[in-house]
Amino acid sequence: MTRQNSADQRNAAGEWAGAGFETVAIHAGQEPDAATGAVVVPIHPSSTFAQDAVGVPRGAYEYARSANPTRTALETCLAALEAGTVGLAFASGLAAEDAVLRTVLRPGDHVVIPSDAYGGTYRLFARVFAEWGVEYTPAPLDDLEAVRAALRPGTTRLLWCETPTNPLLGVADVEALAGLIHSVGGLLAVDNTFATPYLQRPLALGADVSVHSTTKYLGGHSDVVGGAVVVVDPALGERLRFIQNATGAVAGPFDAWLVLRGAKTLAVRMDRHCANARRIAALLTTHPAVAAVYYPGLPGDRGHAVAAKQMRDFGGMVSFTLRGGEEAAVEVCRRTRVFTLAESLGGVESLIEHPGRMTHASAAGSPLEVPADLVRLSVGIESAEDLVDDLTQALAALN
Ligand SMILES: *Cc1c(COP(=O)(O)O)cnc(C)c1O
Repeated sequence: MTRQNSADQRNAAGEWAGAGFETVAIHAGQEPDAATGAVVVPIHPSSTFAQDAVGVPRGAYEYARSANPTRTALETCLAALEAGTVGLAFASGLAAEDAVLRTVLRPGDHVVIPSDAYGGTYRLFARVFAEWGVEYTPAPLDDLEAVRAALRPGTTRLLWCETPTNPLLGVADVEALAGLIHSVGGLLAVDNTFATPYLQRPLALGADVSVHSTTKYLGGHSDVVGGAVVVVDPALGERLRFIQNATGAVAGPFDAWLVLRGAKTLAVRMDRHCANARRIAALLTTHPAVAAVYYPGLPGDRGHAVAAKQMRDFGGMVSFTLRGGEEAAVEVCRRTRVFTLAESLGGVESLIEHPGRMTHASAAGSPLEVPADLVRLSVGIESAEDLVDDLTQALAALN
């Protein structure tokens, strides 16, 4: 049955192969319901599906951990958006990452990870898979010589890439990294959460696996926790599907439906996130209280050239450090009114946070520790003037 589903998924995505991103987002995997004509994919809560005789399922479904029609719609849509062949939806971004690692790695394998990876990703390697006998080496992925030096030919099975990175907005050259890891027989996985498939398509750039926390921009409304994996190689897709079913961290039907609804408006939301982030980055670069701004859209940013080459636009995340140090960083987070002080990112509402004490606290004392005076913004889609005014008042008289 799972075989059948992945063939269906390929066909459904293939129908929209020539269409534009916005059209794919709204239609791939989302044909009007055959039974009722409902234009919107229904939420199917059923955990099980009737069989006409023993071993003869009535339709394509048997049991909802293995496959569920709402989840299949989302998985088909995500595969099409990422230009892959197999998409899989999980209960969280970390569940998606875990499934990739279980599929690809065996005890004794080695992986290279970004030296500024998302804190939860670092914890998964350092505290879970390390105990499982998987060795990891952090490397600055924007330094190709450093990455080459970290590779162990024959042992390095996986290069884990995040671009742009959370929270320092570092940019890695996906095409170049794919060349490096493929030359030693390993796979490239890219955490595409910050960029989204609208701004960047890692699989088209040579990556083997694209991973998302759909909690963020794909869901887009801060009302769901979810994850996704998309791959090109159907055999790798089948192994991942096996792990998804065998370990069971699947996206539930309502969660899958929320992410599917979010995906429909991803393109228009991202355009506004990017435009607003550009305004905020411009404000911060000229502000006397600000020490440094991290935003790949700034022409002087260390990642600008590579980002301009591989991304459609530069995203909605902006980080900065303060001349007043950690105290000033914490104070700014306390003062904003439109920017809500909270973890997470990628929703329509603007958020502000202090990574050192919040999202990245688990990396404290590790090689991935983040600067104490760093503030991270998830720039939302409110009116740009209100966002600029809010940050301006929060930064006033800080230095
Ligand atoms: C949030 C996040 C994750 C983890 O996703 P969850 O849905 O919280 O499990 C992974 N990578 C990045 C870049 C993230 O921002």
